[in-house]
Amino acid sequence: MTTQALGSPGPGEVLALFRARPPLTRADVMRVTGLSRSTVNQRIDLLLEAGLLAEREPDVVPGRGRGRPAGSFALDVDRGVLLVCDIGATAMRAAACDLSGRILTETTLRSDVTEGPLEVLPRVESMFAALLETVGRARTEVHGLALSVPGPVDHEQATVISPPIMSGWDQFDVRGWFATDYRCPLLLEKDATAMAWGEYRTHYPDADTIVLLKLGTGVGSGIISHGRIHRGADGAAGDIGHTQLLDPSPTNAPLCRCGNLGCVEARAGGWAMMRDLAAEGREVDTVDGVVQLVRTSDPVAVRLARAAGRVLGLALSEMVNIVNPRVVVVDGQLAEAEEQIFAGLREMVYSRSLPLATRRLELRRGRLDGRAASVGLALLLSDHIFDPTRIDLQLSEASA
Ligand SMILES: [Zn+2]
Repeated sequence: MTTQALGSPGPGEVLALFRARPPLTRADVMRVTGLSRSTVNQRIDLLLEAGLLAEREPDVVPGRGRGRPAGSFALDVDRGVLLVCDIGATAMRAAACDLSGRILTETTLRSDVTEGPLEVLPRVESMFAALLETVGRARTEVHGLALSVPGPVDHEQATVISPPIMSGWDQFDVRGWFATDYRCPLLLEKDATAMAWGEYRTHYPDADTIVLLKLGTGVGSGIISHGRIHRGADGAAGDIGHTQLLDPSPTNAPLCRCGNLGCVEARAGGWAMMRDLAAEGREVDTVDGVVQLVRTSDPVAVRLARAAGRVLGLALSEMVNIVNPRVVVVDGQLAEAEEQIFAGLREMVYSRSLPLATRRLELRRGRLDGRAASVGLALLLSDHIFDPTRIDLQLSEASA
């Protein structure tokens, strides 16, 4: 039961102001919200008492005598930490972050996701324990966990659903697994969705609609529409890697890891390129190995990369028509094969998509250097724990 008048910002909304802006004074909050002095004082005192806001020491600006006036407040981002882990097909990247989602320290580990959750999650927990030791924090100071996986997820339940490659993960209760050690929220996202959120929030906050195309061992995409994640009704939105755009007749279509014939990733994913390179006498056992071959201008690798670029471009052109993004960010290990992949992508998107959909379309490389998923997870987690409704509920429970 809330006592706030309709439309009047509650403590959670007031706290949200401090997430988006530099330190604010009580007068700033009155001006921005239109709330009365007594209400602003009440909200800020409540947030201070709960430890969510901290009073800032006035800055002393050299040569100006005095800096920011006393009595300004900021989010207390060091009150706890967030832990995130991007679980990839063959490697994991984990990070400890402050409460704003800024990465403090990170670590990586080679790990095969197909070994299943009972093998993989203990490794994630070991990475988390090592990160906590590095930043000098205890488990009790962890305010949230977030993981991403290379497959579709049920966001509400934090379970992986019918993953094409992640054997043993289907319906596994990830939240339950961590609940014995951590008393905090846990979010689970598809990797491409987390990457899309990371790029959107960091580099394209005004883009409205963006698509992130992830080219790694597999192929996937994440969609941000009107500034919100588009997961679809069942979490399957954006699964571009398992669409079949070309003739899937059994005579010429390659078998996909999902069991279907002729999926996009069975023609153009990192694993498919490894398969095709092997068939032509070029043995590589990682996607990085594929990228290295392309970069050294190996003629077979270059030909396959260009062909893969055109298949990916064909798939992407359909997506551009349907979603009409302002920006498409191409990321993932295979995206590092640079121009060989990009040439085909660009050619297909601009020749096959509708003119209206490409008129202002920007096709960009990922700019977060392999960190897009962890950056996205940390920001999502920060949004989640500071969600105004959630904050109001916490505060009303604390005062009850
Ligand atoms: Zn498939």
